[in-house]
Amino acid sequence: MTTRHIKEVDMTKIVSLAKRRGFVFPSSEIYGGIGSTWDYGPLGVELKRAVKEAWWRSMVYDRDDIVGLDSAIIQSPEVWIASGHAEGFTDPLVECPTCHKRYREDHLLEALGQPATATDIDLKCPDDGAQLSAPRLFNLMFETHVGPVQDTANKVWLRPETAQGIFINFDNVIVATRKKVPFGIAQIGKSFRNEITPGNFIFRTREFEQMEMEFFVKPGEEDEWYDYWIKTRFQWFLDLGVRAENLRTRPHDESELAHYAKGATDVEYLFPWGWSELEGIASRTDFDLSRHEEHSGKKLQYFDQEENEHYWPYVIEPALGADRAALAILVDAYDEESVGPEGGKEDIRVLLRFHPDIAPVQVAVLPLSRNDKLVPKAKEVHDTLRRLFRTQYDDAQSIGRRYRRQDEIGTPLCVTVDFETVETDDSVTIRNRDTMTQIRVPIADLADQVREQLRGMGSTRV
Ligand code: ATP
Repeated sequence: MTTRHIKEVDMTKIVSLAKRRGFVFPSSEIYGGIGSTWDYGPLGVELKRAVKEAWWRSMVYDRDDIVGLDSAIIQSPEVWIASGHAEGFTDPLVECPTCHKRYREDHLLEALGQPATATDIDLKCPDDGAQLSAPRLFNLMFETHVGPVQDTANKVWLRPETAQGIFINFDNVIVATRKKVPFGIAQIGKSFRNEITPGNFIFRTREFEQMEMEFFVKPGEEDEWYDYWIKTRFQWFLDLGVRAENLRTRPHDESELAHYAKGATDVEYLFPWGWSELEGIASRTDFDLSRHEEHSGKKLQYFDQEENEHYWPYVIEPALGADRAALAILVDAYDEESVGPEGGKEDIRVLLRFHPDIAPVQVAVLPLSRNDKLVPKAKEVHDTLRRLFRTQYDDAQSIGRRYRRQDEIGTPLCVTVDFETVETDDSVTIRNRDTMTQIRVPIADLADQVREQLRGMGSTRV
């Protein structure tokens, strides 16, 4: 059989596959939907869990110098006053006086090839060409109230990032763990931003999950660690099978940096609409700890026993969106190939070439048909494998269709139970998603063979 590679990723194909196969559904769809809000289906939730698990492993389990945390979404409003978010977590909003569409000024400027901070450019509405309003700063934090009475005394914000929950627990973690600088605190959790222009599927939404790590270092050592984290985070995507040609780093220029930041670099991915931020790595100086000390009155300095001195550690922060990472991995895995004409028509195989540690289903177990002998045997095989891998049992439709369905959801291996299995050899076939080759193995060796094949496809975790 000849195969011809015809990959062409367009977002409508991704969004439609995601819905059809149960990765991502438009939220509140039965009520007409709520713009740019998405729900993760049975496969999507596995994909996102696997992404978060891979991040947590690389940050917490595989290292001695980072510990985890899970802080609250609703925190004291003082946190956001101290951090500067109450005043400064804004985007410049411009509005069309005729069609009333709203845009982010910095995005329109970037689309024109201008610096995001340019001030002397007349912007026109991309839809109807009318002159847009002057920019107004729009705070992205969602407000709500705690308790039954809505007044200013009990106003709170939903956190727009997970990072501040880490800074306010800096001292608690030090006291509880006796960690010594350099060390980090990692957190995964939901964040909320009232984005002016959410869009591009799960790339920019108002409710999303972040994976952030604050790494505390001795002042003077921050540049070394900044470089280290840029390289380490870039490598993480490569290790999960994201193609190198679709990844790059982009250092921010001076005009993009927050006043306290020493440096910031984005890891960008070549999404179907162009290069966009996937992750940000920032060198944040001692801004956060010193601000919280100033506002709370609580000492947040670190005592360095070797040097016999107190200081606020400097911070390097890698911050990644779990949804954005899942989207990049989904887009990167998407492939189509022509597997030769069938019945005079070109036959296209759609597949997701997920890395085996990320694939929502790692092994599918399929009886050749829904036969009374094959089904119990296949279920028995499935029961052994499900304890070791993420598995799925499937006996609906023809075997050819089931292989295609597993290709389309990115399952690396399919194990098939046939008549020979039950009548003669107690062996099964393992079919490889990428090569479509099949090997026959005794059931007694199956778990080892599956493990070996998944490792051959890049797994470091099975
Ligand atoms: P952008 O410039 O795209 O608005 P940002 O620079 O404000 O992003 P950060 O505050 O650095 O983003 O957040 C860290 C990471 O969190 C981002 O790199 C991204 O992966 C994720 N993220 C931020 N905002 C969103 C969002 N609205 N939807 C999904 N993920 C997001």
